[in-house]
Amino acid sequence: MLNVRNDFPILTKRHNGHQLVYLDNAATTQKPRQVIQAVVDFLENHNGNPHRGAHILSVEASEAYDQAREAVRRFINARSGEEVIFVRNATEGMNLIARSYGETHLQKGDKIIIPISEHHANLVTWQRVCRATGAELVYMYLDETGHFTEDDLAKIDTSAKIVAFAGVSNVLGMKVPAEKIIERAHAVGAVVVYDGAQAVPHMKVDVQALDCDFMVFSGHKMLGSAGTGVVYGKKELLNDMEPFLLGGDMIEYVQEQTTTFNVLPFKFEAGTENVEGAVALHAAIEYLERLGWEAIEEHEHALVVRALEGMKKIPHIRIIGSTDPEEKTGVIAFMIDGVHPHDAATILDSYGIAIRSGHHCAQPFGAHIGAEASNRISFYIYNTIEEVEYFLETLPLVRRQMG
Ligand code: PLP
Repeated sequence: MLNVRNDFPILTKRHNGHQLVYLDNAATTQKPRQVIQAVVDFLENHNGNPHRGAHILSVEASEAYDQAREAVRRFINARSGEEVIFVRNATEGMNLIARSYGETHLQKGDKIIIPISEHHANLVTWQRVCRATGAELVYMYLDETGHFTEDDLAKIDTSAKIVAFAGVSNVLGMKVPAEKIIERAHAVGAVVVYDGAQAVPHMKVDVQALDCDFMVFSGHKMLGSAGTGVVYGKKELLNDMEPFLLGGDMIEYVQEQTTTFNVLPFKFEAGTENVEGAVALHAAIEYLERLGWEAIEEHEHALVVRALEGMKKIPHIRIIGSTDPEEKTGVIAFMIDGVHPHDAATILDSYGIAIRSGHHCAQPFGAHIGAEASNRISFYIYNTIEEVEYFLETLPLVRRQMG
């Protein structure tokens, strides 16, 4: 098992007389000293507005930003830095793709295909594309345990122009058969948008091996800071798209009535960049790479195996989606019979356990499975088996405390 807790100052926090047990990592992750220190060093020694000045601090900020982009490129194995665009988060990334690709490349009669379990970032965005273009949003409904069915895959036919899905759902926590879906989508000429928000922090995602056309993810879900996200896009697609936001840095030449735009990736990065965020993401990537994917996956898998084994034995707990640890990453959503998820989360919080409750930004999925709200635990590299045991001991107290 990994042993990294000393790197995370926040994990020493106590709450209500208990050691804090942070099980809300799918929402956001905690930051190691190495990331915090990298940001402090940048702000204390190198802060400037990148790509805009000849002076030393602007040059150093530009270097830090460019190095961060190269680290991301290597991390996801993009062909070039031109294919790596910094945005604020996965949500903004999805908006960029929907606006700049979806709204200009789709028309009436076209279909956008997504699983019903998608996060709103990968759903509401397509609703607007459909309103703007007359295209239709078609859902793959999955089976009761969260698996794609043959009927789902059959929806990807020649009218499908975009197939968009999360590599790991933030509710089901299951790895999807991405290669199979992408192969089918490409066979009918559809463009694939891979939402990597819950996948990239937990497993090796190689965009060339996967052959997705676009991918998005958020830095704050992988030890980086909030306000950093990435869009990966194949260069030929990005070149064929209108800019998303307009303003400084994304221009080549501006006249009174017309503007020509900068080259990739700058064409999609309007305004002053979040350089300290990029620095944090760079440090986060280096931290994860030092640990190695094998060790990370093995660690999270051990936590999931124990959690599922224990939860299955507790009466009145219903796990959403597959209960097979081999199919799960570190995300487990569940219901407790007769207990509203917010009550459960509040009671667990009083024992120092931080879990998520609510609709998890996936309301159509909640409505589809008849669970408008649910509880969710989610692990990361610093969670321990002892924390899982404490959660399993405490979970039965929730119903008892509700009377
Ligand atoms: N996609 C998935 C699968 C997510 O879980 C999330 C966040 O929980 C997002 C997209 C949106 O991420 P952000 O809020 O960082 O933009």
